[in-house]
Amino acid sequence: MQRLDQQFINNHWVASRGERRLTVTNPYTETVIAEVTAGDPADVEAAVAAARRALPAWQVLSGAQRATYLEGFADALTRRRDELVRLSSTNNGKVLAEAGIDLDDAIACYRYYAGLARALDARQGRPVALEMEGVEARCYHDPVGVVGLITPWNFPLVTSAWKLAPALAAGCTAVLKPSEVTPLPERTLAEIAQEIDLPAGVLNLVFGDGEGVGAPLARHPGIDKVSFTGSNRVGEAVMRAAAERTVGVSLELGGKSPIIVMEDADPDQAADWVMAGIYFNAGQICSATSRLIVHEAVAEPLYAALAKRIDALVLGDPLDESSDMGPLTSARQRENVLNYLAVAEREGLVAVRDARHRELPGQGYFVAPTLYRDVPIESRLWREEIFGPVLCARSVANEEEAVALANDSEFGLAATVISDDPRRASRIGRQLQAGSIWLNSEQLVLPQTGWGGFKRSGIGRELGPWGLSAYLEVKHLIGPTGSGDET
Ligand code: NAD
Repeated sequence: MQRLDQQFINNHWVASRGERRLTVTNPYTETVIAEVTAGDPADVEAAVAAARRALPAWQVLSGAQRATYLEGFADALTRRRDELVRLSSTNNGKVLAEAGIDLDDAIACYRYYAGLARALDARQGRPVALEMEGVEARCYHDPVGVVGLITPWNFPLVTSAWKLAPALAAGCTAVLKPSEVTPLPERTLAEIAQEIDLPAGVLNLVFGDGEGVGAPLARHPGIDKVSFTGSNRVGEAVMRAAAERTVGVSLELGGKSPIIVMEDADPDQAADWVMAGIYFNAGQICSATSRLIVHEAVAEPLYAALAKRIDALVLGDPLDESSDMGPLTSARQRENVLNYLAVAEREGLVAVRDARHRELPGQGYFVAPTLYRDVPIESRLWREEIFGPVLCARSVANEEEAVALANDSEFGLAATVISDDPRRASRIGRQLQAGSIWLNSEQLVLPQTGWGGFKRSGIGRELGPWGLSAYLEVKHLIGPTGSGDET
């Protein structure tokens, strides 16, 4: 068992000031694999102070210089890929193949922002086209400053990469607070920072929970912006804290994303995409397409194809390559999901597949992959994010109904459209209110395309150039023609 009694501040491991102990559990073996001394506001104070001290020297480096450190992160993650895949699997419960996808996503993200950091140099001081004679203006992009980065437990190395890579590329220094449920994968970022000689204080990690670390970080006067990924409840608290100081936030919150299957789709192909959209990572995906909206003409064959695939899913040890789905990441999350299944029972929902249809492994926080059909739109299961392997389905008579039902949600993170006619799929996609819409595809997440939601799914975008802009202030120098550049 590991003991984490230290915080990573100013490139050193220093004893945590906190006194409370938290445990980290392997969700398959249900055994404690680490004990963490939860950080407290004094740790946050020290981390923010270190990040502030590091800011002046870090922000004046060229983008190209900062890029070399981002490449250092990518190279170190690549070298340690196998070890980190196993660690993510052990801490999170995700099967090895999925943990591998996470690692590759994180590595691609550090490399992508290394490229954007280099390109940033050429963007500095670009003249702005004006309509006034005798006046010139040039545009610069300065880092926002010291940023607080708060991440959840479902994709630890990915959600941290999506924040840390652009923040460092922009010239910000950072205090990262990993989820108390999965601190082990992100802990390696501190080891990598030491290994690549990242200047002291540029990246600080404070381990602990929301009360001891997250909330004090979000309201700290030395933090210039907070980027948060997690639940709506906490995201709203982070936004309130930021509002007290008029600092910016980026919020990546919940979802209840639709997957639309039109009558011209091949039910077998559609079933593969539907499966991947909801049972990947045991459904603990913010972009899970958890509302299946299917044209009535293809509903029955699709449900049959899904039932067949659900029955074939192998639930088991995430470290065993033959497992398709691991346990949920925590006992608490299993409890949350089981509560929804109890609601379904009370509401009399019709299950195509649920716990009655399969035996679960003898250990681990498993929930059976579940599919309900003809779910009423008032049902809590249709409207609320469950964050587990629970798919709710409804049939519709036409395209207009499908679009209206898809958009009838307080969330708008992602969506999938499946139709044999690519133009029709695109037409439907254009009408949906969501940040990422996959057409006849699995959920491709690419560093070049933006990530984030409409409506209550969040504020701002990660990834792509928008992910970098989130950590930059725009500044213009305006004066008489010939004011020139300082160089
Ligand atoms: P959570 O909101 O409970 O916790 C997220 C992080 O916030 C953790 O590090 C937690 O310790 C911290 N925290 C808790 N209370 C805090 C407070 N008062 N102030 C500041 N920080 C605090 O979420 P979770 O259970 O870890 O993750 C699941 C949620 O994350 C789901 O709702 C999911 O949809 C969302 N999510 C969204 C995306 C996205 O890109 N939109 C990605 C992954 C997860």
